[in-house]
Amino acid sequence: MTLPEATPNANRVPRIVVVGAGAAGLAAAWALAVRGRDDNRIRVLEASDRIGGRMFCEETEGFHVYGGASVIHESFASTRELARGLDVELRPGPRKKGGQSYAGGRFWGAYVGGSLKQTLATLQTMLFSPRYTLAGNWELLRLFAMLRERSKDLDFEDHTRMLDLDTPESFAEFARANSFSRYLRQAGELDLNCFAAGSSDQVGAAYGMALLWLWTINPATRTCLPRQGIGALAKALGDACAGFVRTSMPVERIVLEDGAVRGVVTASGEEIEADAVICATTASTAARIVPELPAEIRAVLEGVRYSACCNVAFGLDSNILAEGSHAGLFPPGSPTFLTMVTNLGATTPDAAPPDKTLVHALVIGEQAKALFAVDDDEIARRVIEELRRFFPAMPERPLFARVYRWPEALCLAPGGMLRAVHDMRPRLSNCARGLFLAGHYTGLPSLNAAIKSGVEAARESLSHASGSEAQGRRVDSRRRAHAAARNHALEP
Ligand SMILES: Cc1cc2nc3c(=O)[nH]c(=O)nc-3n(C[C@H](O)[C@H](O)[C@H](O)COP(=O)(O)OP(=O)(O)OC[C@H]3O[C@@H](n4cnc5c(N)ncnc54)[C@H](O)[C@@H]3O)c2cc1C
Repeated sequence: MTLPEATPNANRVPRIVVVGAGAAGLAAAWALAVRGRDDNRIRVLEASDRIGGRMFCEETEGFHVYGGASVIHESFASTRELARGLDVELRPGPRKKGGQSYAGGRFWGAYVGGSLKQTLATLQTMLFSPRYTLAGNWELLRLFAMLRERSKDLDFEDHTRMLDLDTPESFAEFARANSFSRYLRQAGELDLNCFAAGSSDQVGAAYGMALLWLWTINPATRTCLPRQGIGALAKALGDACAGFVRTSMPVERIVLEDGAVRGVVTASGEEIEADAVICATTASTAARIVPELPAEIRAVLEGVRYSACCNVAFGLDSNILAEGSHAGLFPPGSPTFLTMVTNLGATTPDAAPPDKTLVHALVIGEQAKALFAVDDDEIARRVIEELRRFFPAMPERPLFARVYRWPEALCLAPGGMLRAVHDMRPRLSNCARGLFLAGHYTGLPSLNAAIKSGVEAARESLSHASGSEAQGRRVDSRRRAHAAARNHALEP
C-alpha cells in the first residue's frame, strides 16, 4: 500500500478507523463520538450489510428477534454504563428461573424461587432423575464452596484477578483432578453447552468456573434487560453510530509500517489513512487482516478458539415449553441434534406481541456445522420436525422462522488463552503502535467483554492519536523554525 506521507498539521483531528461494527466496534465508535471527536474523522467499516455482529436483533411482524446475544447479567458494569449513556432502561430479570432437562425419555424440571409445586418438582429431579446422583449433588456443593471463595475474582467486568486460575487445563481436566466428574455429567456439561456452546474439554478451566458461577451455580445473581430485550440496546447503539458506519465494506488489510499503523485497505481496494485503527473483529480475522504482526502475537490470536452455533427463531401463537419453564435442555447423548430450546417470550415479554411468543432452538458444535451445509428453509424444516418430537405443541407451520448461522459463535477461552491474550496486549503496543484490538475474546468472553474492550480501545486510541498529534505539532514547529532560519539565512 502506498499511503501518502503523513503531514502533521497543528489543526488536524486524528483519524481513527474501527474495523467491525459488532458490539465492540460500535461501543468504540460511540465512546469516540461521546468524547467529542469530529465525526468525519471516525470511520467504522463493517464487512456485512448490517451492523451489530453477534448482538443482532431484527424486528419482524411485531417481534424483536435475536440472532445472537439475548441476556445481560446484572454484573456487566460496562454494558450497564453504555445502556445509561444511550438512555436505554435496564430492568432486573425474573427472580424465578427454571428449565427442564431431558433424561431417560422425559423432561425433568429444576426451578429457583418457583411455586411449591415447582420446588417439589426440583426435589423430585434431584432424587429420581437418572442424571442426578447424591454423589453428583455433593460435588456440586463442594464446587459451590470452592467458587464462592473466589467469587470476587470471577468477575466478567475485570477478569485480571482470576488469571492465576487460567492454567492450560480444560474444565474437564479440572473436574477430573478435583473429583467433580459426576457433577459435570449431571449438570455442568449441559450448562457449558448452553453458555459457551462448547464442551468441557474445549472450554478452559478458568472460563468454565467463571461461566458456571455467573449463570448457574450462584443462585443469587440475576439477569437484566431492556423491556424489549437486548435488541433495544443494539438498536440504540446502532442509531447513535449510524453516521459513521459504512456497511458492506470488508477490510482486507490493516497496514503496519515501521512498527506503526498507517491505515487500512478495503476489499474494493480503497486505501484509508489512519492515526489509529481499532480492530474489533474475531481473533481469527484479526490474525488474517494484519499479516505483518510478529509470529508470537499471531500465535496468540490463532490460539483463540470458537464454537459453532445455529440459532433458529420461531414466532408462535403459544408457548411450547412447560409452564414456568424458560428452557428445554438436551444433555450430550440425548437422542436429538438440539442443544437448547428457549422461550424468550417468558424472560422478555415485550420481545413478542401480546398473546404471541418467541422460541429459539440452538444447535451447537459439529451438529451446527452439519446444518450449515443446507439452506435456511431446510434447516427450519429439520428443526421444526425435531421440535415436534419433543414438544407436541410445536406447530408444523410457525408464524415465521429465522435462521442465524454463527460459525464463530462464542469464544471457548481454552486453557491458558485468557492469560496469553492479557500478556500479549502490552507487546502489541510496542510492535504495532496505533493498533488496538477489541472484541469479546479480549476479556472473559461475553457481550460485556466486547463492550468494555471497545470503550477501552477508544480511550487508548485517542490518547495514542493525541500523542501523535502533539508529536506532529512538535515536528511542525521544528520544521517551521528550520524554514524560518533557512529563509533568514537566505535574506540578502
Ligand atoms: C447465538 C449466540 C448467543 C449469545 N448469547 C449471549 C448472551 O446471552 N449474553 C452474552 O453476554 N453474550 C452472548 N453471546 C456472545 C455475544 O454476542 C458476543 O460476545 C458479542 O456480541 C461479540 O461482539 P464482538 O464485537 O466482539 O464481535 P462480533 O459481534 O462478531 O463483531 C465483529 C464484527 O466485525 C465484522 N467483521 C469481520 N471481519 C471484518 C472485516 N474484514 N472488515 C470489516 N468488518 C469485519 C463482522 O461482520 C462483525 O459485525 C452470544 C453469541 C451468540 C452467537
